[in-house]
Amino acid sequence: MEISLLDATNILVKANSIVITTHINPDGDALGSMLGLYYYLTKCGKSVSMLLADEVPEQYSFMGNTDKIQGLPEAKVIADLLVVLDASDTERLGTVNNYVSAPILNIDHHISNTRYADYCYVDSNAAATGEIILDLLRLEGAEIDYELAKCLYTAIATDCGFFRYANTTPKIMRDAADLIDAGVRPETICEALESKPVSSIITLQKTLETLELAADGKIAAVTVYCHLIDKKYNTEGLINIPRNIKGVEIAILFKVVDENSIRISFRSRNSDVSRLALSFGGGGHVKAAGCTMQGNPSAVKASIFAACEKLLRGAE
Ligand code: 5GP
Ligand code: MN
Repeated sequence: MEISLLDATNILVKANSIVITTHINPDGDALGSMLGLYYYLTKCGKSVSMLLADEVPEQYSFMGNTDKIQGLPEAKVIADLLVVLDASDTERLGTVNNYVSAPILNIDHHISNTRYADYCYVDSNAAATGEIILDLLRLEGAEIDYELAKCLYTAIATDCGFFRYANTTPKIMRDAADLIDAGVRPETICEALESKPVSSIITLQKTLETLELAADGKIAAVTVYCHLIDKKYNTEGLINIPRNIKGVEIAILFKVVDENSIRISFRSRNSDVSRLALSFGGGGHVKAAGCTMQGNPSAVKASIFAACEKLLRGAE
């Protein structure tokens, strides 16, 4: 059922025991939204827990409470509400929903959202799920203190590339300004997210060597191999290597998980890569999407290149 933001606020107010989760391969928006909402609801005296079917990259620990994020439980958890943030379909939950017996409230901003929840609030014009959480907390009259603000600033800033991507709006910059008023220092958040162990620079060096170009330079891809990198290393920024090349329309990051599984990220200047990702069982936004495919990596890569070339031909 589609609900308004006010309905979502009321559903949250009524629930006492709440489980919050977000998508696997969690990014700044997923974790910032979850940790921000957790912080606030806990402060309200509710019984709140966070479940996630994936690792939390170390660089996000500055937001606080990352140690409270639990993996899949042994037994089924009974709660008043399961809040699912920033996840557009149930596959993105890595089965967490099967371990929680509660109605699902989904708050999301992906255009490809499948409306799988009992209560859906989806605003594809929002730059980040964190933007929606901030609006929701304002509706509730919540005090936006520093601890909360740093989570929501991280959510917002990371999903719009620190106010550089096409989803950057005057509103999101005003929201960010409010969070800075609450004590956030943008440079400290940037430093926390950008400082990397030397091993990640070596990964970067190896990744650069994998650059592949197609369609007269309109498609560019790089490949990383999970067995060569630290599990906690966040590969999010690597997509910017092909993305920043002049003339590239579709950028791809292939993340080879094992010899039979490959995660794919797409970024585009104009083409609708959300539909492309959806056709491979994934989803996302028009200009930023992803999917996971099974099969031999070189065969998968060939079919992805072919699909991207077809998409570009259709646009000509
Ligand atoms: P990223 O490339 O940063 O992992 O993802 C880009 C965008 O596409 C994000 O908004 C993310 O939520 C979405 N996305 C990535 N992979 C998948 C997927 O496998 N399924 C769905 N539904 N969305 C995805
Ligand atoms: Mn998001």
